[in-house]
Formats: sequence, structure tokens, C-alpha cells
Amino acid sequence: MIAKYRRITIEIVVGILLIASFYFLLSARKKSIWPRDRVVADTGHRQIMGTFARIVAVAMDQNTAEKCAEAAFNELHIVDNLMSHYKADSEISKVNRTAHKEAVKVSRPVFDLLQKAIEFSAQTDGAFDITVGPLVDIWRLAEQKNSTPTEAELAEAAAKVGYEKLILDAQSRTVRFAADGMHLDLGAIAKGYAVDLATEAMQKAGAIGGLVDVGGDIRVFGYPPRQKNVWVIGVQDPARASETIVPSLSILTLKLINAAVATSGSYYRFTLIDDKKQSHIIDTSTGTGIKAVSSVTIISTNTTDADALATAVSVMGPEKGLALIETIPDTEAILILPGPEFKQLQTSGAQKYIKKQLANP
Ligand code: AMP
Ligand code: MG
Repeated sequence: MIAKYRRITIEIVVGILLIASFYFLLSARKKSIWPRDRVVADTGHRQIMGTFARIVAVAMDQNTAEKCAEAAFNELHIVDNLMSHYKADSEISKVNRTAHKEAVKVSRPVFDLLQKAIEFSAQTDGAFDITVGPLVDIWRLAEQKNSTPTEAELAEAAAKVGYEKLILDAQSRTVRFAADGMHLDLGAIAKGYAVDLATEAMQKAGAIGGLVDVGGDIRVFGYPPRQKNVWVIGVQDPARASETIVPSLSILTLKLINAAVATSGSYYRFTLIDDKKQSHIIDTSTGTGIKAVSSVTIISTNTTDADALATAVSVMGPEKGLALIETIPDTEAILILPGPEFKQLQTSGAQKYIKKQLANP
């Protein structure tokens, strides 16, 4: 009898101890006092991919943190060298020069990203379209001449645009154009893809946390620096937009754990003709710059998707864009409409990511 009571008492004490240690671990994790010895390497802003990139690596020793940050930057350079249509010797430039004549073999990463881009085109009814190149060129030329392109010029460029004219062959891993004069512009997805690969490189190199930011396409994972629980990311206020590399004027801040965020902002990059701003994001159905939104921020699990969807929703506009994002799991959108009101709209699950609303929506 006494032995039985003793056993029950021991079981109760062990149970209490287990529950207590569980709560201790939970609260320790919440306060992020564990691991307390983490160190940080912060590269600051460096110029790459036509914009600025910053990498923050968190590790248990300085040497590893610095190695992780450099591994991530290295990955950004690799993607840039493969995907940039500004670099004459990139694979995409080779495709642009040759694919109207013959099928061009490309590397696995380029092929996979092209395939993904076509999937986004199909999903967004062509709002997202990496064959937009000829229209981008026409507006760049128009800016140089400071004169709006004619209807005929726009129609001629539009005839060379259309993702259904981009032919991929998975077996031979080749790319072919169905029309002369086509060319690819991966500006709306390559940065996000580069951020994803840089994040993986940092994780492989031993980081326990990190942030990769390429021109506002951002991914965070693991432990944030300085005993924090979440990564805090600012979303630039289009009403107070500046072209500084560190946007200090945020409309809101986001709290993120293992997440990606990308913003497409027409306030930041545009062409200027006759003092009129024209968004760098083009609605391929009209051949002109989008007008319906000032910025679109997408929160997702990876930056490739966030980047492509931010551009797509910019073209689709608030109604169709928000409806699309509502159907995609683990994905939210925050839209800011054009001024002077700069009204803010968001998907039903976006609020949980908003840490602070800094300016009135
Ligand atoms: P982002 O800043 O990610 O929205 O990408 C914008 C860039 O993507 C532009 O500067 C163009 O190079 C390219 N682009 C423009 N319009 C489109 C479009 N409708 N679909 C895909 N890419 C586009
Ligand atoms: Mg994009």
C-alpha cells in the first residue's frame, strides 16, 4: 500500500517537473534567450541586379556568420550571371539572340524558372508575362526621345509579346520563340528566385537565422539578431516615397518568421515622358504602364512566388488581384491604391503579419 502511494507521488512529481520544464522551454523560446550566443554578420547594401542587396547572417560564431553572408552573395551573382538580359553573356541573353532561329539549350535553373514563369502566366491570365521585353524596350526608347509611342508602334511591339509563343521542351531542356523579335525579361521574378537560392546557400553554410534583401524582395528564416523573436520588415509608404537605398519612411511594419515578402512599387521605378510618370510594370493587354495600384506587397513562403505575384497583382488590379491571392494558401497581399488617398486594401489573413500601422491607410 505504502509502496503504491510512493509510486503515485513519484509519478505526480515527475509529471509536474515535466510540465514545468516544458513551460520553461516555451517561455525561453518566446523570449529568445536561447541560443543566447548568436552573432551576426551584416553586409550592408551592395549593388547587384540593378538594385541594392543586403544580407544578414546569424550564426553561433563570427567566422560562420561571415562565411554564410558571402555564400549568399555568391549565389546572387550566379543567378544574375545566368538570368540578366542586360549581360551579353548570360543564358537569357543567348536565348534572346538565338531562340527565334533555333531551340537553345539552357541550364536546369534557367529552365525551371522559365517553366515557373509560364505557370504564373497561366494562373494570372497573362497578367504576369516574361515575354514583355519588346514593350519594355519601346517605353525605354520613348523615354529617351521624350515622346509617347504611337498606337502602331505599340501594336507592333505587342505582336511580339505573349507567353504562349514561348516554347519549352522539357526533354531536351531547350527554349524556342514562335515569333521573330521576341525577348525575355525576367525582371519581375529573377530577384525573388535569387533571394531563395541565397537563403538556401546560407542555411547550408550553417546559419541559424538570416535575412536576404534584394531591392525589397526579402526572405527571412530562423533566429533574428539581438534576442528578438521575429524579423521586423518595413513596407515603404508610396505617399512619402524616396529613392534612397534604405527606405526609412514605412507605411507599416511586418513581423515575420520563416517567410518571404516582395513589393512591386510603381512609385519607385517608372519612365518619365513629358513629366508624366509611367509605371515600369506593363499591362500586356494594353501595352501601357499599370495605373490601378501604387504598390503591392505579397507575403508568401518563398520569394520567387512573392516576387512574381506582386507584379501579377499590380497588373490585375485590386479586385481580381485580391481575389486571386485569397485562393493561394499561405499567401497574403497588402495593396496601396494611387494617391492622393493612398487607400490600403488587404487579403483576409494579412493582418496577423502587421506589427505596426505607422501612417494612416
Ligand atoms: P517587379 O519590380 O518585380 O514588379 O518587376 C518589374 C519588372 O518586370 C519591369 O521592370 C520589367 O522589366 C518586367 N515587367 C514589366 N511588366 C511585366 C509583366 N506584366 N509581367 C512580367 N514582367 C514584367
Ligand atoms: Mg516581381
